Amino acid sequence: MESAGTEGRRTLSESETNAPESGHSVNPGASTSAFAGETAPLLRRFRTDLHVHSVLSPCAELEMGAPEIIQRASREEITLLALTDHNAVANVPALMEAAEVERERLRVSGTDDGSIPRILCGVEVQTEEDIHLVALFRSAEDGFAFQEWLWEALPSRANDPDIFGYQLIIDGKNAVLDQVATLLVQGVSRSVEEVIAEIRHRGGLSFLAHVDRPGFSYVEVLGPVPEDLAVDAVELSRRLSAEEALAWRSRLGARTILRSSDAHRLEDLRREHCMELLLAEPTFDEVALALRNEAGRRVLWPWEETPP
Ligand SMILES: [Zn+2]
Ligand SMILES: [Zn+2]
Repeated sequence: MESAGTEGRRTLSESETNAPESGHSVNPGASTSAFAGETAPLLRRFRTDLHVHSVLSPCAELEMGAPEIIQRASREEITLLALTDHNAVANVPALMEAAEVERERLRVSGTDDGSIPRILCGVEVQTEEDIHLVALFRSAEDGFAFQEWLWEALPSRANDPDIFGYQLIIDGKNAVLDQVATLLVQGVSRSVEEVIAEIRHRGGLSFLAHVDRPGFSYVEVLGPVPEDLAVDAVELSRRLSAEEALAWRSRLGARTILRSSDAHRLEDLRREHCMELLLAEPTFDEVALALRNEAGRRVLWPWEETPP
């Protein structure tokens, strides 16, 4: 049984994209469905981090192994996590395996309380404009097919571990299976529009990463996000204060806004760096509904309170 969420049912009638919450409530007392004749699904809050790096990212610390990420996320009560290494999905199976091992360990000891995070397959793409864009896929298979497409457009420059760091492909127990020889932290020869279209074509979701940051941000490189840009959401970095986040929200219009850790070291993988999603279960399809603000699923405004 999942114990990740703490909320009860709510109505399905709200439609506004993740507006800042008043008191962070989701009408826990409400139980009626807006859809006549249908049973309202039980929607619960899932603490979610959709932007995390592992030892495959050269800029990530070597402590970002698979069991370590799982254990840290579990301690932080993060119950849904997307692994999003730079231009690669190759460590997603390791993370899924580590989560499965940990879940089984708890199950055998009779203490599986649903605290082990579900893993989504993701990748942080660097486009030819040096914009960072996160893609999420329904399965690791879909992610690997996308990685193949991406690597065809990855310049052949070799990684120098002394300069950039190691790019390790691991299994669920951190055994090193391989190293990626080509530097992963460089722009692929595909435009941001091409990458977004390809992700969509493959049934994936996409969001612009850390648009408020000076580096690798859509806004910094190309200016305001056009209304017709076909991304599903926009991420603001965890470094923003509540006021700054609200100011950005008004600049970004009706977009769904996300906050994730972008953790490159364990210390940054923390509950207060990510967000809560209102979902029926922690799956890709439910996340897709939440990002599109459909069927009552949604992303709760991540900044809870105004700092003093
Ligand atoms: Zn980035
Ligand atoms: Zn990142």
